[in-house]
Amino acid sequence: MHPFVYARATTAQGAIETHHLADSPREAPSVRARSQYLAGGTNLIDLMRLDVMQPELVTDINALERTPSGRIEYGARGLWLGALVKMSQAADHPDVAANYPVIAQSLNLAASAQLRNMASLGGNVLQRTRCTYFRDMSYAACNKRSPGAGCAALDGVNRKHAILGVSDRCIATYPGDFAQALIALDAVVDVAGPSGSRTIPFAQLHRRPDHTPHIETTLQPGELITAFVVSPLPWARRSKFVKVRDRESFEFALAAAAVALDIADGKVRNVRIALGGVATVPWRARSAEEALRGQPLNDDTLKAAAETAFAEARPRGENAFKVALGQQTLIRALRETAEMNL
Ligand code: SF4
Repeated sequence: MHPFVYARATTAQGAIETHHLADSPREAPSVRARSQYLAGGTNLIDLMRLDVMQPELVTDINALERTPSGRIEYGARGLWLGALVKMSQAADHPDVAANYPVIAQSLNLAASAQLRNMASLGGNVLQRTRCTYFRDMSYAACNKRSPGAGCAALDGVNRKHAILGVSDRCIATYPGDFAQALIALDAVVDVAGPSGSRTIPFAQLHRRPDHTPHIETTLQPGELITAFVVSPLPWARRSKFVKVRDRESFEFALAAAAVALDIADGKVRNVRIALGGVATVPWRARSAEEALRGQPLNDDTLKAAAETAFAEARPRGENAFKVALGQQTLIRALRETAEMNL
């Protein structure tokens, strides 16, 4: 691990000012950023130990837990999830579990109990890919670590890599689960930064790799996520997260689906679908939603929706199986959500 300066902030403004001491205001945040915020540290410290991330300044923001960033609130305006709330706190919160089960399930399925007790919600959505070539410094060809260096995964070991949202520069899978629940529920993100505060749709937080896979989000230098806000959505009580992986626990998704269903008179009145484990970013499957609205849920409509969801898939080598696996995962998620006893 490279030496770094450790600082501790007690306010969001103090954190942003400290962070800026080492960060370049001209450079977009990336894996090579010289300044990083530290919350749970479950991803950052891991990558610092591997030398993948080598910040000069680490600003500890855990004291901001005493601000709204550490709270969960539920009321007429929906759900407020502070960015410093621990994954386990959110998953165990009765209002979350009752009104947005897809959120609670995505968090419970995401990691071991130890990690869920440590990791923050803000850090969780910003976690970095598990691509082996990205995490192993002995491989030079990784555009995400070293822009312009190439991508070892394109013709390498890519069984777990993405088939949606890929580019010829990077096919790394977005590793999180919670983000799929947020994007399916049309959550927004509250952000504080050197230029003030702003709110952005969660769907605009992550960037596809395109030509710049090292720039993973639309956050500007020094910006800090303070909260996630989910609008009231009564029919989200009928929602579910299904995750398929190589082993039953402590593993990243090969395919996942976050689904919320509004059914009336045997037909789909409304539906939200997001896919995980198969895309480079949290993936909203709007075409599949369109295909299902107004339709009964049966073998034909489920198959058609699943095929639509993966119509843009670009498998590469070892990950071709993810097309069928992703489709079956989505069909299973829709069926199980429809069968929920409320
Ligand atoms: Fe790097 Fe992306 Fe290629 Fe993995 S898939 S080696 S993260 S550029």
